[in-house]
Amino acid sequence: MTEYDSFSLYIHIPFCISKCQYCDFYSLTSTSIDWIAFQNALLNQWNYLSSLFNMKKINTVYIGGGTPSMVPPAVLEKISGIWKNQTSCKEITLEVNPNSLRTDDLFLYNKLGINRISMGIQSFNQDIRRSMGRREPEKGLKGILDMVEKHWTGRFSIDLIYGYPGTQWKDWISDVDRAAQHNIEHLSLYQLTLENGTPLAKLLSKKETKDLLDYQDDYWPQLRDYLSFKDYKRYEISNFSRDEPSYHNLHYWNMDPWIGLGPGAWSHLNTNKGHLHLGNRENLEDFLSLGGGMPLDNDFYIKNYSGPKDYTREMLMMGLRSIYGVKISALKENGLIFPLFLDHLKQWIHSKDILVDKNIIKPSVKSMDRHNQLQLYIMECLDNPELWSVNVDNK
Ligand code: SF4
Repeated sequence: MTEYDSFSLYIHIPFCISKCQYCDFYSLTSTSIDWIAFQNALLNQWNYLSSLFNMKKINTVYIGGGTPSMVPPAVLEKISGIWKNQTSCKEITLEVNPNSLRTDDLFLYNKLGINRISMGIQSFNQDIRRSMGRREPEKGLKGILDMVEKHWTGRFSIDLIYGYPGTQWKDWISDVDRAAQHNIEHLSLYQLTLENGTPLAKLLSKKETKDLLDYQDDYWPQLRDYLSFKDYKRYEISNFSRDEPSYHNLHYWNMDPWIGLGPGAWSHLNTNKGHLHLGNRENLEDFLSLGGGMPLDNDFYIKNYSGPKDYTREMLMMGLRSIYGVKISALKENGLIFPLFLDHLKQWIHSKDILVDKNIIKPSVKSMDRHNQLQLYIMECLDNPELWSVNVDNK
């Protein structure tokens, strides 16, 4: 197996206090969680996968969910043994829910080396949060944000949703104002997408859905410009920062290797059979009964391999989301004849929507609004056999 000098780690905590109306992530609302069994399964899976793939240095860790701030302190402390002696680890993020966050948690995170928290706020408007199915913190959201400002010394990001039914663009502007007032340095701002099977999707009729999506698009430019006015720089389609980016997410967009632990988590690894996307099935019972340390040939894993062509498509699809772009050398190594590819992109380059800078091809910030159009265009181009070296496998 390949040896990895550095990689990222994702840990999925699939538990929530209640289910939000719009959510289709894998999370369970059980009240009787066997935390010790879950912790042991995570550690077993870590031991198995890290030794199988010769994982050496962890660059970034992201503990997501679900609601990771529900994890009992003693369990989190045990899990933190994974990164405890990893001096190269630049960023350790934990997702927190304002409902379950207490001052003591912030001290604990600090002690365990967690240096970034990401809070799912979604909206500063209490009525809207209620309609999303989100419970209110006892201290109120302001009380929680004041607590974080006072006691948290690490980096701080929040998630917001724009375009939720019942909101207007003025609400979205007001959300950005509130984030700025609390000196929040990083925003992940997602346009509401209606996922099939969620309670929200069932609530909205087709006509209402269309109106909603049109409204989001019509007012997006005002919101985007207001973020820039408030010093939030766009570095990825949905991510804005006054300071540093999310390094963990940069690894994803770069297609760098990562390991995912826990039911519903995915790993991405380079193997001698190709680029492997390795998924853990969304099945807590199986994860616990198998004890997490199951070998790679167990049915619990979903395995998809990409050959050089598919991998190049993925690199472009992910890398052209952010201003950090894609390494041209990596595209060439996978068989893309780059000068011919550039020739197909000349209109985009001429309009400065695509920038080519030494070894990097990247989108301009203004072209991020046309990302879907660009992706479609590129995917069609890549179907052209003349863009590929003859010895590249047609996968
Ligand atoms: S807290 Fe997050 S993961 Fe849990 S139900 Fe709500 S959106 Fe989904």
